[in-house]
Amino acid sequence: MNRAEMLSRVHDRSEPWDMAIVGGGATGAGVAVDAASRGYEVLLLEQSDFGKGTSSRSTKLAHGGVRYLEQGNISLVMEALKERGILRQNAPHLVHNLAFVVPNYDWWEAPFYGLGLKVYNLLAGKYGFGDSQILSREETLERLPTIKTDGLRGGVVYFDGQFDDARLLINLMETAAEQGATVLNYAHVNGLTKGDDGFLDGITALDLESGDGFHARAKVVINAAGAYCDAVRRMTLENIRPLIAPSQGIHLVFDREFLPGNSAIMVPHTSDGRVMFAIPWHNHTLVGTTDTPVIDPELEPRPLPEEIEFILNTAAQYLHKAPTRADVLSVFVGVRPLVKSGDGKSTASLSRDHTIHIDNSGLLTITGGKWTTYRHMAEDCVNQAATLARLPEKTCVTPHLNIHGFHKHAEKFGDLALYGSDAPAIQDLARADPGLTARLHPDLPYCEAEAIWAARSEMARTVEDFLARRCRALFLNARAAIEMAPRVAQLMARELQYDEAWQSAQVAKFRELAAGYLIPL
Ligand SMILES: Cc1cc2nc3c(=O)[nH]c(=O)nc-3n(C[C@H](O)[C@H](O)[C@H](O)COP(=O)(O)OP(=O)(O)OC[C@H]3O[C@@H](n4cnc5c(N)ncnc54)[C@H](O)[C@@H]3O)c2cc1C
Repeated sequence: MNRAEMLSRVHDRSEPWDMAIVGGGATGAGVAVDAASRGYEVLLLEQSDFGKGTSSRSTKLAHGGVRYLEQGNISLVMEALKERGILRQNAPHLVHNLAFVVPNYDWWEAPFYGLGLKVYNLLAGKYGFGDSQILSREETLERLPTIKTDGLRGGVVYFDGQFDDARLLINLMETAAEQGATVLNYAHVNGLTKGDDGFLDGITALDLESGDGFHARAKVVINAAGAYCDAVRRMTLENIRPLIAPSQGIHLVFDREFLPGNSAIMVPHTSDGRVMFAIPWHNHTLVGTTDTPVIDPELEPRPLPEEIEFILNTAAQYLHKAPTRADVLSVFVGVRPLVKSGDGKSTASLSRDHTIHIDNSGLLTITGGKWTTYRHMAEDCVNQAATLARLPEKTCVTPHLNIHGFHKHAEKFGDLALYGSDAPAIQDLARADPGLTARLHPDLPYCEAEAIWAARSEMARTVEDFLARRCRALFLNARAAIEMAPRVAQLMARELQYDEAWQSAQVAKFRELAAGYLIPL
């Protein structure tokens, strides 16, 4: 993907696009892949970097959602379990089976969760990830060596999927581009235009790099702006009834020593009645999440002190050695675009189903849902968008469309496994210039060639794009990421032909941003 080329496609086009998509998160990327692979002409605009919103800040689980089973939302669970299976089939380099253990401290927990998790696996049908099983105390300790042993009776193990959300997002953008879509980051949609008939006929946007505005005509405009979807709807009509109730969730990241095995912990009932996970992720331990209603969602949301305390306290109830504030390597926050219903007082009980809404102006908004169901959401959306725009009907092909990077044995690429089929090209890059094999930080597995690759092939435009989303340094260890920033700025400047002033400005900006991923002691 090359940004200059994408931009010139936008400027060169005089015909209307079949579909213009606002937002480059999981929802927008999924719609772009679906529409382009059916043969429609697609433009996607993202105001920041691809995945800057919620889609890089999830718990990274491709799951049916055990909690939704408890809420009785069987159809959502079944749909998500099927999508989980399709995702692993189409992106095996990114989606892996992970064992989750529910530790049992009461006599009733083993039969209760044992039965529930059996049903969960049954609902997956042919898309199952493995049978659940009741574990003895010893077996539980084998899987979770750091779990609290006082009163521990045993556990129940079940299987779900885990992935790297930002990397999947970049791979989806690459898939969309390969299918012919034009995808542009740092392009802020600031207006929607109407034809003489009063229906939308395009969008106006600002290229945030050059400061130039442009107009793109489109047969249908799809609003996939996540937590900002109501703000985009207000571009056509001020007095709308909001579709979503945003809710934020935080995660804390710790060293691997807090969860050294290969299994995750699932706590089915926290003190506020939610589910919490402690998960091994990229050789670290990820713990989350919370569910706090938000009024004005921000692109860089911040954790509340009580959310941090809540996660630390819950972790302390289950882990032998309780993690403290000083152990937090990074804290990151995401905002769920939950579909509104009722009084909206508790966001935890709001449905994770998606919704498609068409305003009087013809603006089609798709929101809600989950990362796991992005493909199904996109299929639904493109079906409706094609009808609305009177486009010829075309069949969805994404159930069997490999996602960019597809590789069945990517683990053979070691630290580059996540790149899947792109890994050999990064190895070649490093071979051609042996300096690029150097690690960017002793505590993280990333090498210099990856920064060059990100700028050259993955449309990374800033130091943050690389450290937060092309690799996951900022999310794993914010201090290490800050230390990496000057070298990353140098490498990216070399590739993108920027001067020293750009490098200094980038490093200063990144330091300021990364400070928000550290918590005061
Ligand atoms: C804490 C947390 C944990 C989660 N965990 C999981 C999980 O484990 N598994 C799972 O399946 N789901 C999970 N989810 C849900 C999942 O992450 C979201 O459903 C999904 O990422 C939403 O994607 P989206 O594209 O709709 O929104 P976003 O990713 O926020 O994308 C919207 C994009 O639109 C852009 N945009 C907004 N306005 C404009 C404009 N005017 N012009 C151009 N661009 C614009 C934004 O910059 C943003 O990048 C979790 C969510 C949260 C918050």
